[in-house]
Amino acid sequence: MTQQRLSEATKGTGRSVTRQREAILEFLQGTTSHPTAMQIFDQVRDELPHITLATVYRNLTVLQELGLVQELEAGTASAHFDAVVREHCHVRCLGCGRVDDVEIPDPENLDESAHVASGYTITGHHLVFEGYCQTCREATQPDQTN
Ligand code: ZN
Ligand code: MN
Repeated sequence: MTQQRLSEATKGTGRSVTRQREAILEFLQGTTSHPTAMQIFDQVRDELPHITLATVYRNLTVLQELGLVQELEAGTASAHFDAVVREHCHVRCLGCGRVDDVEIPDPENLDESAHVASGYTITGHHLVFEGYCQTCREATQPDQTN
């Protein structure tokens, strides 16, 4: 499945399907956690013990060029990666740094509003909400049973 997507995407590009690309894409497709390159590296090492962090970065760039992966502008020091490439919004936890999807109904309306307000032809947006995930909220809240 992953291999098939890769071989279709690489067709005519001069890029090839490699075990590294397959392992990175497979991990990204199987997670909703929007991992950083370092987290991806930690995972694919189990399967490919000789892979380096530099190789992970290089292949993430190739996978982006192939349109299979997007790099999120999540306002964090390290980039997060997502195998869901259709336009969608994200929310970032200010406590632990995790990034989740946010499904906004009708995101096209945002583009239209931005077009009306700016006069620009809007081609897209990068919207990241910020807040505290449930785990962090529970950790910081005083115990109310006392
Ligand atoms: Zn959190
Ligand atoms: Mn996402």
